[in-house]
Amino acid sequence: MKVLDYVYLIEGRLYDSNCYIIGEDELIMVDCGTGFNMEYIYNKMKEFGLNPSKITQIILSHVHFDHCGGLNIFLTDYNPEISVFEKEAPFLESADMRMLLLDMFAASFKPVKVDNLLKDGQVINIKPYTFKIIHTPGHTIGSICLYEERFKLLISGDTVFAGGSFGRVDLPSGSLSQLTESIKRLSKLNVKYLLPGHMNISYEGGKDISLICNMLSENY
Ligand SMILES: [Zn+2]
Repeated sequence: MKVLDYVYLIEGRLYDSNCYIIGEDELIMVDCGTGFNMEYIYNKMKEFGLNPSKITQIILSHVHFDHCGGLNIFLTDYNPEISVFEKEAPFLESADMRMLLLDMFAASFKPVKVDNLLKDGQVINIKPYTFKIIHTPGHTIGSICLYEERFKLLISGDTVFAGGSFGRVDLPSGSLSQLTESIKRLSKLNVKYLLPGHMNISYEGGKDISLICNMLSENY
């Protein structure tokens, strides 16, 4: 579905994460699913009039297989740059079984070279949008969100979900205290469009995030 002009959501099928495709001419993709349903993703893109060869960069919210597995297929078909938060790049480049959750998904993954090591506060320009990378550890050590201040849009990976829930912290490198801090940080942003890594998007992102923030500070 089209979320805003030049922002498309391809809803995750089965175990796939959601994929977001953004840009007016040059495109970026945020997360690419397991790769088990790549044809579906290509077909959806076609339906939206998006040409996968125009994707110049794939940004991963984190390196769990349900968000990155599709890279192995996408990179045989096209040639985008791969961008990952600096702390998680080594896991992708070594196809780290534990960190990528390959056992959990009964999957295999070929190592992928990372072109851009993302840092907290880094700016990603993709016309007409300007995203800022926000390091939000907790679900994993190098989880990130992408924030577009002018349009109040937050791509939140598995850190927060629509309706007031948040990502698991019991997986390798997960931490509830870090997640709590990260969500506190997100609660200071002005968010309308919340675009999470799974399930529905929300048009009341700020409300969802404060809900989680209050719940976490009351209980932990
Ligand atoms: Zn995850």
